[in-house]
Amino acid sequence: MRVTILSLFPEMFSGVFKESILKRAIQKDIIKVDIVNFRDFSTDKHKHVDDYAFGGGPGMLLSVEPIVKALQSIEGFETAWKILLTPQGTTFHQNTAKEYTKKDHIILICGHYEGFDERVRYFIDEEVSIGDYVLTGGEIAAMAIIDSVVRLLPDALGKKESFENDSFYDGTLECPQYTRPQEFMGYTVPEVLLSGNHQEIEKWRKEQALNRTKERRPDLLSKTDKKD
Ligand code: SAM
Repeated sequence: MRVTILSLFPEMFSGVFKESILKRAIQKDIIKVDIVNFRDFSTDKHKHVDDYAFGGGPGMLLSVEPIVKALQSIEGFETAWKILLTPQGTTFHQNTAKEYTKKDHIILICGHYEGFDERVRYFIDEEVSIGDYVLTGGEIAAMAIIDSVVRLLPDALGKKESFENDSFYDGTLECPQYTRPQEFMGYTVPEVLLSGNHQEIEKWRKEQALNRTKERRPDLLSKTDKKD
């Protein structure tokens, strides 16, 4: 899968692709990441990419031209899935991540300052938000999206990190988990997990996942048929 990021702050990504699963996914050619700094496409001699809003108002807006020129410079941009990161977009969920695993190439456009000239919206396929809060820029949103998509790609995770029991994968939260020691400051591990009875363990895990979801996120159950 190809991932191209349009950002004014490429350095922000230097850590995230050098660690853990994303690093491994790049090394194993599961993803190929390119970062395009759209400041390189400014036509202004001072390399400005922002300007005041027509009609007045605080802050600066990203201009349409450098973004569109940067987009057009990307090989295969016509067929790539172009995602504008904005708090005004559709909220990103695990199902969105699953959908993106089917794409060959996604482009993530990171905004900054007060946002974009509205006309950027004519050149993209989808607007995505990672939640109802406002970040300084789209970079952290892009990192969250890439991370959640990559871990679903074939061979990105080893068996020990498998995603199939993760929260949201099948519409519920994950069940409680324990590791050694069996007892810590009086807090013990549920007996069933020590029983070696795999059927009972599976049953317990399903029940716990369901109870936890009912308690914490009943909204998830109304979207599935897993109410009992
Ligand atoms: N003035 C804009 C508004 O109210 O919609 C917010 C601009 S925000 C300070 C700057 C940039 O950060 C946005 O253009 C977007 O790329 C990114 N951003 C902020 N919050 C985001 C969110 N919840 N999801 C995705 N991107 C976000």
